[in-house]
Amino acid sequence: MSPPGHRRGLRPARAREPGAQVGQVGLRHAHSVGRELENHRYSGNVVRGRTGGVGNDATLAGVAEARTGAAAGARTALHLLVDVGVGGGLVVNGRPLTGASGAGGEVGHPPFGTPGQRCPCGAAACWDLEVDGRALARHLADEAPDDPYDYAQSVLDRAERGDPDAAAAVARVAAALARGTAGLANLHDPDIVTLDGLAIPLRAAATDAFDTAYTAGLMTFHRDRPPRVIDAAHRDHGALSGAAAVGLDHLTSEAALADWHDLHAREGGS
Ligand SMILES: [Zn+2]
Repeated sequence: MSPPGHRRGLRPARAREPGAQVGQVGLRHAHSVGRELENHRYSGNVVRGRTGGVGNDATLAGVAEARTGAAAGARTALHLLVDVGVGGGLVVNGRPLTGASGAGGEVGHPPFGTPGQRCPCGAAACWDLEVDGRALARHLADEAPDDPYDYAQSVLDRAERGDPDAAAAVARVAAALARGTAGLANLHDPDIVTLDGLAIPLRAAATDAFDTAYTAGLMTFHRDRPPRVIDAAHRDHGALSGAAAVGLDHLTSEAALADWHDLHAREGGS
C-alpha cells in the first residue's frame, strides 16, 4: 500500500481517540513497514530500551480481524485493505507474518498488474496499481487523481447512481482485486480472507465480476472449498485495535516483563 493509505487508515481512530492510550500501553503509529513500539508503561513505571516491531496499519487491521474480528478463530487469515493500493497480509495464529526485516505483508506489490507499469515502490506491474482510484481513473481515461481514495469514492457513487462507464470501471477493478485475492489464496491457502477499506464497496458494487474472477483464479483443488471472502468487522478501528493487541503482546513478553522486573528492583533498592 502507498503511504497516503496509512495516513487515512489511522485518521478516524486518532480523531476519536486522541493520544491513542490503551490501558497503560502507549502506542505510536508511523506509516509504511518496520514500525516500532516504545515508551510503554506498566504499573506506573516507564520501561524504556526495548522496541517491539508492530507493523503497518493494514497489517495491524489484519491482526485485529484475526483476533477479535471477522476472522476470529481462523488459524490462517489473509487480510486485504484497499485504500491507495492494497495492504494487509497473512496472520497465522493471531500473529502477522512480517518477514526477516519487518517488511513482509506488502501484498500490493507482487506483479499481478500490467506489465511495464511502474509502481512508486520501484517495482513494475504491481497489483497495487490495479485495485484503487488510480486504476479507476485509467479505466475512465481521467487524469491521475490527487486523492485516489476520494476519487474512488466518487466513482463508486457514480456507479451506484447508474453511470455505465463508472460501473464498468468498478467491475474491472473489482475483477483485478479478485484475481490477486485468488493468487494470494493459492499462495497462502488461508482459512478465510477478510476485505477492508475500499475493497468492501468495490466488491459489493460488482459482486458478479468479483466472484467470477476469484473462482477463475483459484487452483482447481481450491474450488470445492474456496477460502471464504468476507468483510472486515473492525473497519476504521482495525489498525488501533491491532496495535493494541500487538502492543500488549509485547508488553507481556518475557523480555518486557524482565525489563520491568529489573527496573522495579533498581527503584526498590535505591
Ligand atoms: Zn509496487
